[in-house]
Amino acid sequence: MTYLTHLECSKCRKEVAANTPQRLCPDCQKPLLARYDLDALGKVWNPQTLVGRESTLWRFRELLPMASMSHAIRLGEGGTPLLHAKRLGKVLGLEHLLIKDEALNPTGSFKARGLCLAVSRACELGIAEVVIPSAGNAAGAMSAYAAAAGMRAHVFMPRDVPLPFRSECEAYGADVTLVDGLIGDCGAAAKKAAEAHAWFDVSTLKEPYRLEGKKTMGLELAEDLGWKLPDVIIYPTGGGTGLIGMWKAFDELERLGMISSKRPRMVVVQAEGCAPMVRAFEEGSDEARPWENASTIAAGLRVPAAVGDFLILRTVRESGGVAIAVSDRDLTMGQHELAACEGVFACPEGGATVAAVKRLVDTGWIEPTECVVAFNTGTGLKYPEVRTEGVP
Ligand SMILES: *Cc1c(COP(=O)(O)O)cnc(C)c1O
Repeated sequence: MTYLTHLECSKCRKEVAANTPQRLCPDCQKPLLARYDLDALGKVWNPQTLVGRESTLWRFRELLPMASMSHAIRLGEGGTPLLHAKRLGKVLGLEHLLIKDEALNPTGSFKARGLCLAVSRACELGIAEVVIPSAGNAAGAMSAYAAAAGMRAHVFMPRDVPLPFRSECEAYGADVTLVDGLIGDCGAAAKKAAEAHAWFDVSTLKEPYRLEGKKTMGLELAEDLGWKLPDVIIYPTGGGTGLIGMWKAFDELERLGMISSKRPRMVVVQAEGCAPMVRAFEEGSDEARPWENASTIAAGLRVPAAVGDFLILRTVRESGGVAIAVSDRDLTMGQHELAACEGVFACPEGGATVAAVKRLVDTGWIEPTECVVAFNTGTGLKYPEVRTEGVP
């Protein structure tokens, strides 16, 4: 089963017990990371171990935190396709453009991976009620997993959230509170309610296990590519869990002897109307200042201040990557191109990665023969207000 040993602070390295519910580091309030006994696992784990296992993220269960699979809530998460985008690649001038299509997850986005693990582990540790502030996919994913676990879900959303995101939570039986204000105001309201009622808050990186769920994207990429990694990974970044999680997966696979030390260049893509990581990257800072008046149609990228800012920036720099911002117009065009060339109707965040690939190929930062993985993080079907008609 699991090789989880303890949790470790990503900043001050304090060690914390993993067998009781934990949120941030008790000393410095930074994210906690799950640590495994990789030396022991390395002795028994090899590519053969995975043969014949189900094609969901649970195929990597030794590297996941569940003590027992009896509390694992399974809706078919992970195991998403890695599509060779031949037609779009040709348009953009790339031979090996791959799309990791996360829209095929339960609830239509990769948020299912993180919340599957956060909710399953909370359930295993005896928690009965979970709460989240969210302007989009995270709320639906948490509500679905809580429903399947028989747990109570509390969601705080901005009043102007697109209807599909809200109806979905209500259908799963979540208790939805509409907040007059932005996601920051929802965060404050959720925090207050969590403290008042002793609900467990599963906000991005404020508990350790969403990261473990998102990490499985990195494990899948490595396995799908025959235990070699691509040259470049393009990731639409809000809170950055997927980016930080994939880097953690690569560290663990290298420690296990499954991959070499050759890593992809990690690219952070944000929207011009909310690009705190891009600004910090360009300024050479280790942390990001909060973005004022954040605005973009890509709700998953509307994160003015990320708890894991220093981890995102460290990963991009260590990998030799870059952080770039694209306009809402360009990301909408990217959405259109991905749909028309490849039959993948992406969310606006997925469109942003296509816009980024185009820019980086045009400037020569990506070479035509390089293997590039671009993430489509969710389905386009939940954004009825986004129009792609008339876009060239
Ligand atoms: C949440 C979200 C993102 C951003 O993901 P992070 O890992 O928090 O950076 C991107 N795309 C979609 C569709 C999302 O829902």
